[in-house]
Amino acid sequence: MNVRDSEHMIAELNREEPYLLTKDAKEADLILINTCSVREKPVNKLFSEIGQFLKHKKPDAKIGICGCTASHLGEEIFKRAPEVNFVLGARNVSKIREAVLKEKFLDININYDESAYAFGEFRQNPYKAYINISIGCDKKCAFCIVPHTRGEEISVPHELILNEAARAAASGAKEIFLLGQNVNNYGLSGGKKGGVNFSQLLTRISEIDGVERIRFTSPHPLHMDDEFLDVFASNPKICKSMHMPLQSGSTAVLKAMKRGYTKEWFLKCAKKLRAMCPQASISADIIVAFPNESEMDFMDTMEVMEEIRFEQIFSFKYSPRPLTAAAQMTNRIDDKTASARLKMLQERHAAILDEMTPSYMGKVFEVYFEELRENGFAAGRTSQNNTVCVKGSEELLGKIKSVKITQPQRLILYGEVV
Ligand code: SAH
Repeated sequence: MNVRDSEHMIAELNREEPYLLTKDAKEADLILINTCSVREKPVNKLFSEIGQFLKHKKPDAKIGICGCTASHLGEEIFKRAPEVNFVLGARNVSKIREAVLKEKFLDININYDESAYAFGEFRQNPYKAYINISIGCDKKCAFCIVPHTRGEEISVPHELILNEAARAAASGAKEIFLLGQNVNNYGLSGGKKGGVNFSQLLTRISEIDGVERIRFTSPHPLHMDDEFLDVFASNPKICKSMHMPLQSGSTAVLKAMKRGYTKEWFLKCAKKLRAMCPQASISADIIVAFPNESEMDFMDTMEVMEEIRFEQIFSFKYSPRPLTAAAQMTNRIDDKTASARLKMLQERHAAILDEMTPSYMGKVFEVYFEELRENGFAAGRTSQNNTVCVKGSEELLGKIKSVKITQPQRLILYGEVV
């Protein structure tokens, strides 16, 4: 989502005059730092990054801080780093052109509605198009700062999404990647559902000429109804890779997190998906050491991982965030225990992957090539979201090829085009 927000800002700036991108801060006239605030670490990193840029930047270069940390720190950023020229919240990125013209500018209004704003077009990768289908989040997960930085959940009108997808496909992006905090809750307006729902949106996008692949993140386990699972399983253009942000396998912890589902409900849903679409891969987000998490609770998480055997996990130690309900909870888990749990989870998952990896040997996958890697390799993804590398160059980019896996590794499958 942040990558897309950065693309939006670049597109907006380009409307007036072409901006050239540089990775060398010494060369830049404008430095944008787009921030996350889901965990505490990136927030601390922000101020050291600003310090680094100040040391090396051109004397007149402007610095803008954007995104979720901008939303939640606001004015404080100017106090701690007076050299910063503007602060733009995650929901206010459409104001970038106004911001660059001012000496000082701040807009962090989370009620600002830019869901129907027709952003300019810019893609960092021409082969796939990220499209926001909703902004904000209405869930009240006890650990999560997102509703406080991105505001109320509003769905982008489907006409805008379909037009954006059609333009992207016409310009050569075969893959459309839909973004939102709860994509499968699409169709919200003023807190109410109505009109085109997510399953219908997926079908409509799959009918666009030139669209060959559709991905999305994040769906919420709570909204994985039969209509959605049916469309996912049966529409060949929808990539067979499902993200299921589990967070915890313990019903007690899930309740404290206000996730709205139980361990059994999650297992039932994931198993149904495995049964309806056996070729699908499932990934998960997992938080360990949420306040009050007992050893038994943690074992529940390990058990869910063992039963579903996620193809990929993104796992984190709980990080207390301001403005969230969990920040008030007293029974924090000490860092040593938290680290031990994270290590155990990650080591077991690596072992699960090591058990799975050899089974890829000799298999043939359809791979969409999207980037070049070092040493003469081109990289792409399978429908299931595995990264595949083959010897090759530009001529593979933007193409879908059958690849036979000859050397499966835990994170990369090496193979050859057949
Ligand atoms: N909409 C997603 C959340 C996106 S944030 C959902 O359905 O949950 C991405 C991931 O960051 C979350 O899934 C969660 O695992 C992690 N995360 C969010 N807040 C966190 C916190 N306070 N500490 C640790 N991890 C957190």
